[in-house]
Amino acid sequence: MVKNIAVIRGDGIGPEIVNATLKVLDKVADLYGHTFNYTDIDMGGCAIDKYGDPLPQSELKKCVESDSVLLGAVGGDKWNNVPGNMRPEKGLLRLRAGMGVYSNNRPAKIWKQLSDASPLKKSIVENGIDFIIVRELIGGIYFGEHKTEGDTATDVLRYNVSEIERIGRIGFETAQKRNKKLCSVEKSNVLDSSRLWKKVMHELSFEYPDVELTDMLVDNCAMQIVKNPAQFDVIVTENMFGDILSDEASQITGSIGMIPSSSLGSTTCGLYEPIHGSAPDIAGKDIANPVGTILSAAMMLKYSFDMEEEANAIEKAVSSYLDSGYRTADIMSEGMTLVGCKKCAELICENLKKE
Ligand code: NAD
Repeated sequence: MVKNIAVIRGDGIGPEIVNATLKVLDKVADLYGHTFNYTDIDMGGCAIDKYGDPLPQSELKKCVESDSVLLGAVGGDKWNNVPGNMRPEKGLLRLRAGMGVYSNNRPAKIWKQLSDASPLKKSIVENGIDFIIVRELIGGIYFGEHKTEGDTATDVLRYNVSEIERIGRIGFETAQKRNKKLCSVEKSNVLDSSRLWKKVMHELSFEYPDVELTDMLVDNCAMQIVKNPAQFDVIVTENMFGDILSDEASQITGSIGMIPSSSLGSTTCGLYEPIHGSAPDIAGKDIANPVGTILSAAMMLKYSFDMEEEANAIEKAVSSYLDSGYRTADIMSEGMTLVGCKKCAELICENLKKE
């Protein structure tokens, strides 16, 4: 297959972690006979320096026309004093809106080799943590009317059927590609919008008879994520609940440098990026952990390009690399061998095998 990937290196450690990831994608292409064409896109601080704009229209157009977008990270102290609408992060928001990616998918997975890094009890971690939160990204209370009148402030939480249906479908389809268990999280004992959410999810479930749908109230879900995370396969929820739960879920896996994410809309053209920022404190030192970005590329293969086998091969290669006792500085522990960003990618490439 031939796929055109828009590549945004961005700022700080962005270029290092993205270059490392392209090495892994090149190896996948070699092994499986694919062609990945990369188009470089300027976004973030580097685009402000070059064009005076964090995401020029011409760059956004190239992203929208690509088969998918791979992003490192943007931002840094250098651009802290530019006006709000010109900040590097504005480029990211414009990219998400321009691509229409309404579904943010963030996996919470603990690698058995790194189980000591989790703040949870060993007995809980031993049962495994491997689930995905599918979060509605461009609706709900963050996008409703916000107003303050006198001593009263109001934020409107509104969802309509089609907004719930489109994120619900992503939840079901994600579950179909995993263990076929979908947990819909809401607050239907209190909120009308949640009662509508629940009703729509159950109507949709008839179209996905192979997926087992369950409901959970958000307060209970927050508790269950730390009490028994092994019970979850895919969680689907609205914007604000997902924002909070996905941060909670990423923490229980222990390391920010290891976690990927995907954002998808109504087409297969998705945005794939690690969950961390541009880490200016370690930029240019070849010590960043590229695994979150490499696993984001694996998500791109699985969810946008339907290359499940190739994605699994990357995940297995990461696992073998960890098994061999290599660690970047952020996850280093006694008895392990310290490696830099480039070496980490080389080792993952060496472990990449066609099934
Ligand atoms: P950060 O995620 O960049 O860094 C937090 C800490 O984690 C730092 O100590 C950093 O060294 C470490 N870290 C992050 N990623 C790592 C990796 N791959 N390997 C090893 N260590 C890693 O968060 P921050 O310091 O609050 O933000 C720095 C800049 O990034 C800011 O300008 C912020 O606005 C921006 N940011 C961008 C995005 C994005 O592009 N999506 C997301 C969050 C923050």
